[in-house]
Amino acid sequence: MPAPLEPIKKYKCTYKNCPASFDSERAMRSHKKHSEEHDYCAKCDEDFDSYDDLAQHKAFRPDMHGKACRVCGEEFKSTSGLRRHIELNHKVDQKLPCLGCGSEFYRASLLVEHLEFGHCSVITPEQFQGHIVHKHLVTKLLEGGAAYDRFMQKISKFDAAQDYEEEGGVGIDMPLDQDDDDEARDVEFAAIKPETAPEEPVPYTGPYPPLPSQSQARSVSGASDLSATMRKMSLGGNSESATAVGSRDGTSRTPTSSRQLNPWGGKAAKQLFPEAKPTPPPSEFSISYHDEQMEHEHGINIMNTRFWDPLSRDWNPERFYDTVVCKYYCPFICEQTFDMPDEMNTHILQDHRIARMKCPCCLKYFKSVTALMSHCESRASKCPINKAEDFNIFLDKMTGGFLSVEEKTRADHIHNPTVMVENPDTGRLEQYTPPVATYLQYSSSKPVDWKDPDKVAAQIGGSGSSQVFNYQGKLSQW
Ligand SMILES: [Zn+2]
Ligand SMILES: [Zn+2]
Ligand SMILES: [Zn+2]
Ligand SMILES: [Zn+2]
Ligand SMILES: [Zn+2]
Ligand SMILES: [Zn+2]
Repeated sequence: MPAPLEPIKKYKCTYKNCPASFDSERAMRSHKKHSEEHDYCAKCDEDFDSYDDLAQHKAFRPDMHGKACRVCGEEFKSTSGLRRHIELNHKVDQKLPCLGCGSEFYRASLLVEHLEFGHCSVITPEQFQGHIVHKHLVTKLLEGGAAYDRFMQKISKFDAAQDYEEEGGVGIDMPLDQDDDDEARDVEFAAIKPETAPEEPVPYTGPYPPLPSQSQARSVSGASDLSATMRKMSLGGNSESATAVGSRDGTSRTPTSSRQLNPWGGKAAKQLFPEAKPTPPPSEFSISYHDEQMEHEHGINIMNTRFWDPLSRDWNPERFYDTVVCKYYCPFICEQTFDMPDEMNTHILQDHRIARMKCPCCLKYFKSVTALMSHCESRASKCPINKAEDFNIFLDKMTGGFLSVEEKTRADHIHNPTVMVENPDTGRLEQYTPPVATYLQYSSSKPVDWKDPDKVAAQIGGSGSSQVFNYQGKLSQW
């Protein structure tokens, strides 16, 4: 027999479904305030149906609640205090698929860990590291100056030799690509006449800095500021083994109005190649199509060709063979020479790995990309690296192009109406818009030097083996 547990008192709880009643209004309010069931604002004496409604109410009543968190309702004196609270307590989960195997991760550092420590069934740790080293090397070369000139010098011997062979009709040996005639032709094209000025230079319209075959055109298309522009774009690098924001002259922090997602494109590319047709919108299909077109028309480019990497199918040690001294020159900014390509492979894979990484902001060193990524991702850390204007450029470089980032308004802060609130000092109604919280939305991206594993596997023989990258049987030398 359900009988009322208590006799009904004078002051019934104002929540309809609550049977409690009290002798005084004060007791009733105290019950609402302390009851887990009720979302009641004691300061304003208002009942709310849900916790969310109560938090929203607080966020829009600065006169009563200061700066209140609209997720949980906690109150703060300052906007910065509120923002910090939200960053620490109300993280937005990420949705980051691995480009190789498709596994999904909710933190950027977990995706990096997956790639860096060999947890991926498709992308090997060496391959991942290769993308990072490539970024690093290309960035250095694009800073221009002596490093770039020296690199061009190293490969010019090869190009000159190819010129000669060209007449004899000798093709270029492209390991594992012999059946791909188009690709081989492209490389030949890239190697044509690097040192003699064409009589009528054809303006280079590609999106990438050209190899020497286009170097004449480069000067035509106003690229005398190549190194200047690139230096601004680049985040620099202080040593072979550390990745860092800030070029040596300390002028790297480029003020940009928004975080650019594609560090190689955008403004800088336009400045470099004012005549260039706009790049097609970045859908996966159009980018690879575009790249193929570019390669077809202009030969290989150092941006997306892993020319230095013995583990890549782009590897061609002959590029670095000096026919005068009969030795191979290390492609890196390193003057070591080798008699045999194998010796150079070993050297590259052993000595040009990135052993540790540096946070450009707080200058701390990290033993792995994963550790540096955690450091960047953590908003609890005092280091403001992830608040840097060009954080996305650093991220791109640090992860070898596998991650990009964008600052976004939190979904629960998008709806942000302006309300009228009485100013307690003047008694007048004033407009009030609560502070908006943003978060960093990471996304998986495709490195510029990415080669589709399926395509490579098919070329290897389509056996469906997991060895999709070109090891050339050199793995035992590690
Ligand atoms: Zn109640
Ligand atoms: Zn209130
Ligand atoms: Zn909160
Ligand atoms: Zn994976
Ligand atoms: Zn070297
Ligand atoms: Zn730091």
